[in-house]
Amino acid sequence: MSSSFSASQSYRSTRSEVDQAVSFEEAVITGLAKDGGLFIPSVIPKLPSDFLTSWNQFSFQELAFNIMRLYISVKEISDEDLKKLIKDSYSTFRTNEITPLVKLNSVKNLYLLELFHGPTYAFKDVALQFVGNLFEFFLNRKNENISNESEKNSITVVGATSGDTGSAAIYGLRNKANVSVFILYPTGRISQIQELQMTTVNDANIHTLSVNGTFDDCQNVVKKVFNDTEFNDKYHIGAVNSINWARILAQITYYFHSYFQLKNQLPEDERNNFKIKFIVPSGNFGDILAGFYAKEMGLPIEQLIIATNENDILDRFLKTGNYDKSSEVNATYSPAMDILISSNFERLLWYMVKQTDGENNDNKTGAILAQFMLNLLSPKGVFSVSKETLAKTREIFDSFKITNDETVSTIKKIYQENNYIMDPHTSVGVTAALKKISQDDEKTQGNFKYISMSTAHPAKFSQVVNKSLTGLEGYDFENKVLPEAFKKFDSLPKKVRLVESADLKLIETVIVQELENEKLAKNSN
Ligand SMILES: *Cc1c(COP(=O)(O)O)cnc(C)c1O
Repeated sequence: MSSSFSASQSYRSTRSEVDQAVSFEEAVITGLAKDGGLFIPSVIPKLPSDFLTSWNQFSFQELAFNIMRLYISVKEISDEDLKKLIKDSYSTFRTNEITPLVKLNSVKNLYLLELFHGPTYAFKDVALQFVGNLFEFFLNRKNENISNESEKNSITVVGATSGDTGSAAIYGLRNKANVSVFILYPTGRISQIQELQMTTVNDANIHTLSVNGTFDDCQNVVKKVFNDTEFNDKYHIGAVNSINWARILAQITYYFHSYFQLKNQLPEDERNNFKIKFIVPSGNFGDILAGFYAKEMGLPIEQLIIATNENDILDRFLKTGNYDKSSEVNATYSPAMDILISSNFERLLWYMVKQTDGENNDNKTGAILAQFMLNLLSPKGVFSVSKETLAKTREIFDSFKITNDETVSTIKKIYQENNYIMDPHTSVGVTAALKKISQDDEKTQGNFKYISMSTAHPAKFSQVVNKSLTGLEGYDFENKVLPEAFKKFDSLPKKVRLVESADLKLIETVIVQELENEKLAKNSN
């Protein structure tokens, strides 16, 4: 690791007990550290002291550039290249604002940040559009002086999806040079829209596999593919899952962007006198973790509020200090948050432990984290933090667990009061926001503004939205909710391969065959 990188531009593992840093490129390409930990910047960079005024009028892309620049050395990616990567990544969004902020009039001080204006209509696009371009950039650079096609560096991305991640990864990586993508989904177990979003992508490098089995079967076989060293070495298996540092980095931008949008929407006399609380519907803790980095960098965020559905490991942690994996996943109305363990939470914990039991020592902190994760893997599946660590976490975070019934009734309430239609994940966030606001109102209220993350377009989760709103005055799914792009799916050709079982050898055979087909398709072009 070159010593000319500043500390915020080099990366260490959350489980590392020794000082060793890797570059941004290595952190992004390898995804996971060798010791099983997650990559974090060696220090969190601070903002320029005048950023509140000098960044105030920046576009989303300009903010992205200035934030990312702090985390990526100019020796790794030049200013010009970074600007181009950002420009390309957000050119696929349908609004100039990229992530527009919307005021909900019926509730004082409550705003929604719409994160679903990318190609797959869900928040994961904000990060995966960037990650796709980044993968291609790094590969192109490695291949610059290699003329023989067969010697070029390539990546075979393999992932399992229960819905949103698969389509966002496909749209992020379609048509990228030297990247092939295999997304496995359980046949008949994802929504029709989610399936169509994947199977109507025709690019030669995209391979959607409909696998006879459950989501867990798909995920297990993907893990086996990764662990098959011989296969992995030969095909360079890569991942774009939510623990990739580049995804967190790309998400920091919208915390800043929404802060400035809000500030500029306020009457003059309020602009320098408000505090923001963000409410984030959470699953793997990637979205809200980006808010934590924004706060640590110096963005004035008062509090971060975790909204979970009935898969509530985070809510239970905040209340007890025990991180306790329950035995099974509950299928809820907000399926993108149906998870047992929030992978990115390990990153937050690192900072919370460092300031308490880690005694401000990185290596000691790494050792404590490594032990936590061992405990989590043991048959009991639980670890506990100290009172001090829990207290530290609660200085910044609060949490709410939201039920299916509440999810439905908030969709209905917000529609009736604002004529605004939310998807069920967004509703989990707004339900938590309403609870938080009424708690704050009971105490003496500061001048708080609340921004709740809107993570998916309602048409993606039509069943729950229809269940909530059908029969209400003026509600018309086909004509008022469904985007034009979704109506065209039926007439498009489908590309999908059915696989009889989630068997390792079978999946590997399919991958090899499809890679051959892909090569043939490319050569014939
Ligand atoms: C992935 C996802 C979430 C959860 O985000 P995390 O970063 O995993 O916490 C929430 N809503 C939707 C629609 C999603 O796709």
